[in-house]
Amino acid sequence: MYPESIARLIAAFQKLPGIGPKTAQRLALFVLSLPREEVVTIARALVEAKDKTRYCKICGNFSNEEQCIVCRDSRRDRSVICVVENAKDILALERMREYKGVYHVLGGAISPIDGVGPEQLRIKELLQRLQDGQAREIILATNPNVEGEATALYLSRLLKPQGLRVTRLAHGLPVGGDLEYADEVTLLRALEGRRDL
Ligand SMILES: [Zn+2]
Repeated sequence: MYPESIARLIAAFQKLPGIGPKTAQRLALFVLSLPREEVVTIARALVEAKDKTRYCKICGNFSNEEQCIVCRDSRRDRSVICVVENAKDILALERMREYKGVYHVLGGAISPIDGVGPEQLRIKELLQRLQDGQAREIILATNPNVEGEATALYLSRLLKPQGLRVTRLAHGLPVGGDLEYADEVTLLRALEGRRDL
């Protein structure tokens, strides 16, 4: 129905999450209506984001440098480390502009069904970070689902004997949901109401 060049573009858009055939078609036709320079800008941005984005050496956040913007900021409070499953969760927490501590990305959650055990997560890196003795509180901000809870429990058992305060974000977060989709007010309440484990 479409020439091959357009069919390929539609197929490419369909690979994106939440994009069905109709939306993919609409996006493809929209791209064709744009001036060539704008299409080039979009295409370059896609490739550059992929090529230039790496993970912070310290916390695992997205970064263009060796250290991310949070770890480079000397005003951030290094006595509090908020542990999240994925780098995108940091973006959600930073949106509320309230949290002044630093982060640690695990790279997932413990899930025996998917073959993910503690050794597949960046737990060793977290323990290494704690060696400098700066951290006093660890906020476990893994997702409020089975895997996230199991991961929080595992970490609290590991960290509490080290004399650290270990807290968990309060409920109020949608259960079974993802941190990244929580709005700022809900997240702020969950942070303020965090409880000791
Ligand atoms: Zn970092």
